[in-house]
Amino acid sequence: MTVVHRFHAEELKASHDMMAIMEDVRLVRSLAYINGKWVTGEHFHPVENPADGAVIGYFTQLSQQQIEQAIIKADAAFRRWRKMQAETRSEILMRWHDLIVQSKQDLARLMVMEQGKTVNDALGEIEYGASFIRWFAEEARRSYGETIPSHIPNAQLSTIREPIGVAALITPWNFPNAMITRKAAAALAVGCPVLIKPASETPFSALALAELADRAGFPPGTFNVVTGEAEMISQALCASEKVKALSFTGSTRVGKMLLRDAAQTVKKCSMELGGNAPFIVLPDMDMSLAAKAAVDAKFQTAGQDCLAANRIFVPQQHYEIFLEAFAHEMNQIVLGNGLDARTTMGPLINRAAVHKAHNLVRDALDKGARLVAGYHRSVPGENFFAPTLLADVTAEMAVYRQENFCPVAGVLPYQDLDAVIEMSNDTEYGLAAYVYGHNIHQIWQCMRGLEFGMVSINSVKMTGHPIPFGGVKQSGLGREGGVHGFEEYSEIKYCCLGALPTASGS
Ligand code: NAP
Repeated sequence: MTVVHRFHAEELKASHDMMAIMEDVRLVRSLAYINGKWVTGEHFHPVENPADGAVIGYFTQLSQQQIEQAIIKADAAFRRWRKMQAETRSEILMRWHDLIVQSKQDLARLMVMEQGKTVNDALGEIEYGASFIRWFAEEARRSYGETIPSHIPNAQLSTIREPIGVAALITPWNFPNAMITRKAAAALAVGCPVLIKPASETPFSALALAELADRAGFPPGTFNVVTGEAEMISQALCASEKVKALSFTGSTRVGKMLLRDAAQTVKKCSMELGGNAPFIVLPDMDMSLAAKAAVDAKFQTAGQDCLAANRIFVPQQHYEIFLEAFAHEMNQIVLGNGLDARTTMGPLINRAAVHKAHNLVRDALDKGARLVAGYHRSVPGENFFAPTLLADVTAEMAVYRQENFCPVAGVLPYQDLDAVIEMSNDTEYGLAAYVYGHNIHQIWQCMRGLEFGMVSINSVKMTGHPIPFGGVKQSGLGREGGVHGFEEYSEIKYCCLGALPTASGS
């Protein structure tokens, strides 16, 4: 049933195509959301549908002064939000969760329009994103401190977990819903207001979350979405004494700049950065099962996933069989507009991403890689890139060294497991690694030897609300989700309650 709300057409600034797919048109927002109000900047920036390049709408660009005002309002909200009963914060978060779940079809279609992924993947992301809100709504009631056996005579020692203050959250375009909720739910649950800066390619998913947060009843200033020029906004957030935590998901390049800027005010920083995941197939594995898993681990979100399997290592004796099985599985992928139910892989985010993918393939072929399948297959639009399988990849190739972020799979043979673990670790990244096989000794060797924050054995799916998501090395700092998720937005206050001497001197 269509939900009808009153709205101002000029405020929405969205195309007819976009409005036509929405049941609840109030979820389509162009303005920023600050202190419980929709706020316009002076300019608007277009957002394109990656599937066909059509402009689907515009988002507003705030000024520096408006960002500074938003910080002041969020800081004022902190004084009230932190004092609210944890139970009440939990109830508001649960209302937000329920509204998101009720609107998931609309939110998914909106995401497909701006991000390009398939509607099934988008629905999966909405549910994944909502699961963090539910988890942290429950955890809000369990933000415990501890008591410490005292080393000081007659003293009581304890700790209290306290919210740190305003949290700035800067997020990417590849998961425009879940990368926000995974941060915001933890921050809000523990008592911190949030200022969210979404990626310019995908602002509408963030603004729809703000509309639902408004309906859920977050007090003004607690939940804010600021849009506009990335560098100006992040510098204003980093320079402010009032912003106490900075949580970023995005490229390692930008993460390093933000760490530098946040040092000015010594903020608590958590960084979810790039990856270069190895996928190790053990010799006792069934090669068709391994190939199917590797295709799943490589091509989700058209390869634009920090967890994507970037370097696939296969035992020499099974190499050609694996390549054949992989190519067969990969060729089943159906390219198209994500709104079409038959599509299993959508476009890349923009033309620059397609250009980068071509460069990676050309570099690899120039350096001796073998094109096994894909690449020359016809594609349904300029932002599409055919899933491509390259064999005989070497460490000299960019496809091996860089985070690909595109549907190009690089496979290489190995003979020795110790050498493969060493090669897997030969990257500045350390987010996730996959291992497929049966031999428990070899699996254990991989689990211990791989220098990655997350190692998944015999499962492509590894993430979810109860786990500590995060990387080591230049893949990041801190963990999101699970019981560790609060730590990025809270401080431990130690209290020593001494005993004054009594009149009797005891
Ligand atoms: P990105 O270019 O680093 O952008 C991420 C965010 O930073 C966006 O909001 C962007 O805003 C902003 N930004 C860009 N340039 C900036 C600058 N100079 N100063 C301040 N902010 C700036 O990353 P992306 O291309 O959106 O996302 C892909 C990357 O994210 C990949 O490396 C991927 O591995 C990583 N990622 C990591 C995880 C994880 O959990 N570890 C999850 C998802 C993605 P604008 O859009 O307005 O430019």
